[in-house]
Amino acid sequence: MKMNWIKVFFILTSIATTQFSGLIDVYAHDEVSTQVDQQLWWKKDRNKQKEDDFPELSGGAENPERNRQQPISNIILQQRYPETVVLQGPTTENRIALTFDDGPDPRFSEQVLDVLREYNIPATFFVMGSRAVAYPEIVERMVAEGHIIGNHTYFHPNLVKEADLDTLEREVTRTEDVLNEILGYRTRLFRAPYGFLYNELVEKLAELNYSIIVWSVDSLDWEEEPPAEIAANVLNHVHPGAIILMHDGGDWDADRTNTIESLRQIIPTLQQQGYEFVTVPELLNIPYQK
Ligand SMILES: [Zn+2]
Repeated sequence: MKMNWIKVFFILTSIATTQFSGLIDVYAHDEVSTQVDQQLWWKKDRNKQKEDDFPELSGGAENPERNRQQPISNIILQQRYPETVVLQGPTTENRIALTFDDGPDPRFSEQVLDVLREYNIPATFFVMGSRAVAYPEIVERMVAEGHIIGNHTYFHPNLVKEADLDTLEREVTRTEDVLNEILGYRTRLFRAPYGFLYNELVEKLAELNYSIIVWSVDSLDWEEEPPAEIAANVLNHVHPGAIILMHDGGDWDADRTNTIESLRQIIPTLQQQGYEFVTVPELLNIPYQK
């Protein structure tokens, strides 16, 4: 009997130790992977010789950021702030909006614009201020071809991690100023980097007179899966009033070639299904200028 208790004790402690070390592993792994990312970042940087003047996403690439942070769900924020946070348009009409984040990116934005022009449909671009400064001619082309421009911050920080209202205000107003120079008006459409927000950030953006445009269909194009898979992510989840999230830009080692190709499947298929592509302000019937 005594032996049995000892056995039980050992089994229990070994389970506890395994669980505990598993926990330590998770945290240790997180820390290590961050370090490795930074090392690789630096190495890749050297090897591929990134253009020095290409403005980076200061909060990091989509993939690791989205996996690491779990901010307040946009669905909850939309319920809390229905006047400010928008996930989709009216579901009563077959109208949908394509949206593109992280441009203007000289490697991909113009190709996205080419495809949109080919199908003669408008879209909404949430641009980074730092990139708009570097490539104003691409933003000008977007506007000239009937697309709408929104604010996606200046350097693309992770606003939840920064946890600082001043950072938000600086990022947003600096971008607003830059865009005003190019567009001749102040945009009132905003999309958060990674879609990461919390109550106080939403309240600040409302104070700054912004509509926060989230999405209801995520193409997950930043995972850089084959075009057919990106298209399936959209086509399998599309609905009347959908706001579809895609990217015309990315980190310096990102590749949006598959996004561009997927558009050639997404656009004609949805048109055949009777959907009409409109800009976000058209879809929501809201002003896009302050
Ligand atoms: Zn972004």
